[in-house]
Amino acid sequence: MKKIVIAIDGFSSCGKSTMAKDLARQLGYIYVDTGAMYRAVTLYALRHHLFLENGAVNEPELQQHMPNIHISFKLNPATSKPDTYLNDESVEQEIRSMRVSQHVSKIAAIPFVRTALVAQQQQMGKDKGIVMDGRDIGTVVFPDAELKIFVTASAEVRAQRRFDELQQKGMPAQYDDILKNVQERDYIDSHRQTSPLCKAEDAIELDNSHLTIPEQQQWLVEKVNEQLQQSSKMG
Ligand code: C5P
Repeated sequence: MKKIVIAIDGFSSCGKSTMAKDLARQLGYIYVDTGAMYRAVTLYALRHHLFLENGAVNEPELQQHMPNIHISFKLNPATSKPDTYLNDESVEQEIRSMRVSQHVSKIAAIPFVRTALVAQQQQMGKDKGIVMDGRDIGTVVFPDAELKIFVTASAEVRAQRRFDELQQKGMPAQYDDILKNVQERDYIDSHRQTSPLCKAEDAIELDNSHLTIPEQQQWLVEKVNEQLQQSSKMG
């Protein structure tokens, strides 16, 4: 069957990566979490003290460091999920910390960071057969993706999900801090000048505030099957 590109965009912590990961596994497609790439650059910037005291990013310094930042994904046999690597070190846990979440939107708003990561993402998907999740996949990275999904859920539901996830991993977190972070990231992500988060005109919207993971997955599989049939008919 013909392979397609599936773009899953939406607000932070609305379960995009769970959806995308499961779907890629079912289809035998590659899965790419583009948020992890912005998080890895953020971790690098934090480690190299590239945030100024006023919270802004030292952009000229970061730009000089960009050629030294290599991000890749490797399948973790223990979890059967891809782990994020920053210069050959697994940073999968560290990039999910609150510290990284609190700084990532500033890094993701920098045009030269986006240009570099978007080019890598387009390279990863050039042979299709890929499920990619992020904020600008259907609008900027793959505007011609055969299937585009835009996921939403209320900020409170998303904060609760993130809180539960961090608790399960034994990572310290307060619900109120998470809610504030979710709301701040929504604002910065949708108001930045370069590639702001917005629904592509041809994306299908899914509000999953009240859906269980199996219900959401069933909805998604139906949409994918419809699109696969259509793409095959078109040759
Ligand atoms: O998806 P996740 O919450 O891990 O993404 C972290 C941050 O990375 C987002 O809040 C957003 O600022 C940024 N991001 C982005 N474009 C993408 C993916 C993520 O700007 N394609």
